[in-house]
Order: sequence, then structure tokens, then C-alpha cells
Amino acid sequence: MGSIAAGGNPHAVCIPYPAQGHINPMFKLAKLLHHRGFHITFVNTEYNHQRLLKSRGPSSLDGLPDFQFKTIPDGLPPSDADATQDIPSLCESTSKNCSLPFRNLIHKLNDTSTSNVPPVSCIISDGVMTFTLNAAEEFGIPLVFFWTPSACGCLAYMHYRHLIGRGLLPLKDASWLTNGYMETAIDCIPGMKNIRLKDLPSFIRTTDLDDIMLNFVMEEAERTSKASAVILNTFDALEQDILDALSAMLPRVYSIGPLQFLVNQIQNDRLKSMASNLWKEQPECIDWLNLKQPNSVVYVNFGSITVMSPQQLSEFAWGLANSKKSFLWIVRPDLVKGDSAVLPTEFVNETKERGMLANWCPQEQVLKHPSIGGFLTHSGWNSTIESLCGGVPVICWPFFAEQQTNCRYSCTDWGIGMEIDNDVKRDEVEKLVRELMEGEGGKGMKKKAMEWKIKAEEATRPGGSSYRNLNKLLDEVLLSK
Ligand code: UDP
Repeated sequence: MGSIAAGGNPHAVCIPYPAQGHINPMFKLAKLLHHRGFHITFVNTEYNHQRLLKSRGPSSLDGLPDFQFKTIPDGLPPSDADATQDIPSLCESTSKNCSLPFRNLIHKLNDTSTSNVPPVSCIISDGVMTFTLNAAEEFGIPLVFFWTPSACGCLAYMHYRHLIGRGLLPLKDASWLTNGYMETAIDCIPGMKNIRLKDLPSFIRTTDLDDIMLNFVMEEAERTSKASAVILNTFDALEQDILDALSAMLPRVYSIGPLQFLVNQIQNDRLKSMASNLWKEQPECIDWLNLKQPNSVVYVNFGSITVMSPQQLSEFAWGLANSKKSFLWIVRPDLVKGDSAVLPTEFVNETKERGMLANWCPQEQVLKHPSIGGFLTHSGWNSTIESLCGGVPVICWPFFAEQQTNCRYSCTDWGIGMEIDNDVKRDEVEKLVRELMEGEGGKGMKKKAMEWKIKAEEATRPGGSSYRNLNKLLDEVLLSK
């Protein structure tokens, strides 16, 4: 099952959307395919490639001869580095400017007079990089979309057009965001129960039918069915109804997550040590955690894109301080919009015995560390599933995209989380952190998170659903003749 076809190695070109939360899962998938005998070309934007080299050191990317890195430009002006964190600009730019360089790259890889790699046999493209369809069509090779959000987020995106058709979107007026309209129950998405308008991915929060992000995700979602297959980093037991609904809409859907558990099974240290962080990790976080009691530390991290106001930063800080719990808080230098993130000096002095602050950490390692008792998160999909893999319950402060949907499912269906109000106040942070770490609710969520962790392990073991789906993906799509 899933072994290499006779007649030379298959060659997968893997192209993530150029953001951390997309690069990480794509990189894991590339490692799995490499382990199954594929030659891998991993395509980053030039800008991100430079960041990877800087954060990891040049030798970190040339680990293996049949795992190569190539770059294409993201199309943004070179002087405007900040624009790479400006999601609408980046989405507009990639969809307009990346098709030709990507096509030219494949052409070059296939040119036997200049290239000594096997011909490209398939493309694994991010689900929001659908310009890749043009190259797949031209070269006559299968293309698989990897949608890196949750299946519930993905299903919601696929229904944006339907919601517009029903007159639910766009909002008539900005005041509708706060006048109770967002509480409207949404019962027209098969597979989704108990969902309100406010739980749908945030790009619906617009009064403009021409809104860039609304249209971008809608168009990308609609092109999904043109691929040979769709991959999701989730597992059947977690999102069964949603996956059934997606399977009814799309050609072939393979749930092969959590990828991190499948990657952990690979016995190749060189492959394992290749990482995809755009920021430089601070491994001393782990040394610090090693000194702490089991389940005693709150981990706080809002991912790679979330930004907040100085006021919100200060409310989180004082909420954490007042909870009197130990915490590891990752404060990205650009966490505060338009400013560098500076924490109040009194807060830093008051919590220096029990708080550790850093810019970036090895999150998967942190979340499986026995000292971590809970996670205050922005509910990005990677963070959510990594938390589940560590058996760690969450407090959710969703920022944008499908984080709102992940938050809803974490707090209802999956039973692993509590939501914090967007207009965050220190008293609520303190209360929820205490509840998470020592309350009855927190204990229940911890138990649930541990149960999901076991189910995730089962799904990724030989014979488990994700393990079998990965084999099927190889047999039915990537290696089928
Ligand atoms: N991450 C990390 N260290 C950090 C912060 C984030 O390694 O200090 C990784 C995290 O493990 C996850 C990704 O960055 O794989 C963030 O993805 P997610 O979907 O959670 O959020 P996004 O950054 O896309 O909002």
C-alpha cells in the first residue's frame, strides 16, 4: 500500500500559502511524502525563504539531496516587508502575480537539459493558491489542494456564496456587528449545528459585497472542486459530520491529521530536524518549563498574525498577573499594531518569579510539556490541533479568518475550551485563567482534551482513519497511473 510505482521516483511540488500557519502543515506533509519515497520540491516565496534561512541558519534547509527548496516572488514590492503580514495585500498579490513564475518553475524542473530531478508527477497546493491549477492543467499532472484550516472552517468558507444568496450577507450596516444580528442562527449549512453568524469565518464581517477577502476566499473555495483531491489536517472522529458534508461537495476528501503524529513516526533524524519557522525559536522556554510542576503553567500565544491594541495587551498582562498562575507568554515583537509590544514595567517586575516572556517558541514541544496546564490561544487551526495533541484545554480569543469557527467548536462540540470576550478585560482573563487551571470546568475540559488526544493517536496509528487515508491518497491519486 502506498509504495513507489515502478519507473523512477515520483516528484511532488509542494506550495504553501506564504504564512506560518500554512507553511508548517505543508512542510509536515512534504516530510511524510518524502518518507514514502517522493522527491520533494518545496516552494516558498523569496521573502519567506530568506526569513527561514535567517531564523534557522543556512545549513538547516539543505539536509537531504532529494528534498529541495525553490522560490517564487510573492509579487509585493521588495521595500514593503510589512505587507507580508497584511493578508488582503498578500492574497491579492499571490493570486495575481504567482501563476507565471510557478508555471515557469515547473517547466524548469521538467527540463532534463538543466535539471537532474525526476519529472514533476503531482502538485500539492495550498487551497488558497488556486492559480496552481493552470500549471497542473498545462503539464497534465494531478493537483491536490491542501486546505490548512479546520474542516469546519473550510466548510463555512464553501458556503459564503450561499449565505449571500439567502440575503444574510453582506451586513447592511456596520452597526449590525453589535446590534444582535451576528447572533442569528445559521441552519442552512449541512453538517454544521449550533452555529451563529458570528461563528463563521470573520471575512463575512463586511458591508461591502466587493470586499477583497470575502471575494478572495469565496473564489478560492469555489475552485476547490477542480482539483483531483482535497487534504485536511484533521481526523474523522473529530469532524465526522463536517467531513461527510465536504465529501458530498468535493471530488475526494482525505482527512490525514493530526499530521504531527504521523511525522513523529518517521525514523529519520535529518528529516525530522528540518523545521519551517519564520521566527527564531527560543529553546530556553523548555528549560524554564522543566523547572515547573506538572499542569501548573498557562501558555499564552496568539500565533503569527494576530495583532492587538496596547490596551488589550495590558488587559491580558494584568489578568495573568492577578490570576497568580505561572505563565509562558510569547509576545511577538509585532504583536501590537503599528507599535512594538511593550509590557508595563510594573507587570514585568511583579511577575518575574513566575512568568517567562519570549518572542517565539517551539510550540509543539511546549504543548506536549507536562508543565503546561492550559493554553490561552487565538484559536488558529494549527494551535488548536497541536493543543489537542498535547491534551491541553484552551481559552479562546479568536482574531480572524476561521478562528471564530474553531473557537465555537472548541467550546461546544469538542468541549475543550472557553471563549474570552473580544473586548478583553483583566477581570475576565483572571477569572477564566483560574477556572482553566483549577476550576471544575477546567478539569472537565482537561479530561476531554486528553480523550481527544487518545483519539488522535488512534487515528494516526497503522489501521487508524488518518493513516489509512494517507495510504489511499497515495494509491488513488498521487501514485495512480
Ligand atoms: N508557532 C510556533 N511558535 C510560536 C508561535 C507559533 O512554533 O511561538 C507555530 C505553531 O506551532 C503553529 C503556527 O506557528 O504551527 C501558527 O499557526 P496557527 O494556525 O495556530 O495560527 P496563525 O499563525 O496562522 O494565526
